[in-house]
Amino acid sequence: MTHVAIIGGGYAGMSAAATLATRKIKVTVFEAARQLGGRARRVDYRDEALDNGLHILIGAYTETLRLIELVNSRHASAVLRMPLEWKVHEEFHLRAANLPAPFHLLVGLASAQGLGIAEKFSAARFLAKLRSNRYKLERDLSVETLLKQHAQSETLRRVLWRPLCVAALNTPPQSASAQVFLNVLRDSLDATQSASDLVLAKVDLSALLPEPAAAYVEHRGGTVLRSQRVTAIDPLASGFEIEANNQRATFTHVICAISPHQVNAFLIGITALSEIAAVIDQLRYQPIHSVWLKYPGSVSLPSPMLGLTRGLIHWVFDRETLCGQRGLVGAVISAAGEHENLTQDELGARIHCELQQHVSGLPDPLWTRVIAEKRATFACMPGVRRPPQVTPLKNFYLAGDYTESDYPATIESAVRSGIVCAEHIAQQA
Ligand SMILES: Cc1cc2nc3c(=O)[nH]c(=O)nc-3n(C[C@H](O)[C@H](O)[C@H](O)COP(=O)(O)OP(=O)(O)OC[C@H]3O[C@@H](n4cnc5c(N)ncnc54)[C@H](O)[C@@H]3O)c2cc1C
Repeated sequence: MTHVAIIGGGYAGMSAAATLATRKIKVTVFEAARQLGGRARRVDYRDEALDNGLHILIGAYTETLRLIELVNSRHASAVLRMPLEWKVHEEFHLRAANLPAPFHLLVGLASAQGLGIAEKFSAARFLAKLRSNRYKLERDLSVETLLKQHAQSETLRRVLWRPLCVAALNTPPQSASAQVFLNVLRDSLDATQSASDLVLAKVDLSALLPEPAAAYVEHRGGTVLRSQRVTAIDPLASGFEIEANNQRATFTHVICAISPHQVNAFLIGITALSEIAAVIDQLRYQPIHSVWLKYPGSVSLPSPMLGLTRGLIHWVFDRETLCGQRGLVGAVISAAGEHENLTQDELGARIHCELQQHVSGLPDPLWTRVIAEKRATFACMPGVRRPPQVTPLKNFYLAGDYTESDYPATIESAVRSGIVCAEHIAQQA
């Protein structure tokens, strides 16, 4: 009888588990941490539920949103869905119009504040050109080079394209893959009107999908083991033996859904997987810093999410509007930069100073907490090679945001990879 071991209870692993459970296939999930969710998980700190990293989802995350709806009975109140609004504080404001795509964007662009008429035409021409080429490049290049080739002005790059690129790919435009960036533009801005919606979690990220997915799996006879670090995966003549917490068990299939920098510990030594291990070995990584600041309850931001371009902060979120956490503000600094040289206290103080320039009368925070993820995502560089989900080793699969996908390292690519593995197994079964 098919029994699938899923190693890793992040978004990829839990999506695979929920999909297999839907198909009535027996699963056991092994998660090393106490908390499900991996890089998108709840972090409990001083009576507040923080997230390991503040996440932005979009309407184009069709599989993530579908799975949330499938497993989370409170899905309607778990997310805040807003028509695309790109607000760079006091510099730029674009709001999508209530029209079918791509007119929602074109009309939004035409009425955007912070751009001259020539820049609006230039951005529209750029998008029209991408569209006529079906968002395909003959040869991958960096986003910055592509923007220069299409004569996008410094202002356009600063307030629109660079923030979009860093938010989507977590890679600086100088070294980010233009092709992957275009894939994101194609599916978010040029698909349907709702594909460009911003979707923000109103619950912590473990409660959004991984925990309800675990309940869904358990309700269908599956098992989700927390605090169970897998220490060995041994291929047998038929199936696999898995070791966790000094106990061994056998399974017919394995979906290895752990982060890319950890996965090779299991792949190296398995001859059939040596080529894949070499591809993973070539991946490079980019950090994301999340800075949490707790202010007195009276403090709030002008909107639930705000973009900033002139300091370290890329995005800042008001958790009161989103999750009812009064006075709690979370700032995101994507990708590598000078901030990595600061101590956590220095970084907290610096972020507070930057916020003071945007929120008048901001008092000192009661506390700050920095969560630095050094390997938040793989660096999405031009031509980057990613391993497939279905591997040459029979019944052994890889799931995760770094596996083959049109998308950069995002929740959606993690979810889709888990579904690909599960569907492949279900077809065989
Ligand atoms: C700070 C930050 C901000 C981000 N912002 C966004 C965003 O705005 N939008 C977006 O779409 N994406 C964002 N991302 C990316 C997104 O979080 C990831 O793409 C996604 O969570 C990856 O999921 P995954 O399941 O592939 O991997 P992971 O989340 O890394 O899951 C792997 C799991 O495997 C477990 N594990 C590892 N080793 C073992 C072992 N030996 N045995 C058992 N379990 C093991 C880990 O504990 C972990 O739970 C962000 C990431 C970070 C870090």
